[in-house]
Amino acid sequence: MKVASIQTDACVACGVCAKTCPRGAVTIFKGCHAVVDESRCVGCMLCARACPASVITKKEANT
Ligand code: SF4
Ligand code: SF4
Repeated sequence: MKVASIQTDACVACGVCAKTCPRGAVTIFKGCHAVVDESRCVGCMLCARACPASVITKKEANT
């Protein structure tokens, strides 16, 4: 399954992705960057479309 992947070095920690995710799969780690909980993510990519910095891509889930 595909899931969202954050380019953490380019993330500005604005939190838009966390607010957008219908699954509550994104959190902001220590105010630094977003982190995706792959066990919750369903790959809808709403977060990627909402990200103002365009730093969310799709990848194969780590299983
Ligand atoms: S919306 Fe984009 S820039 Fe903002 S916290 Fe999420 S990944 Fe980072
Ligand atoms: S792809 Fe969908 S479910 Fe996964 S983190 Fe982004 S908004 Fe949430």
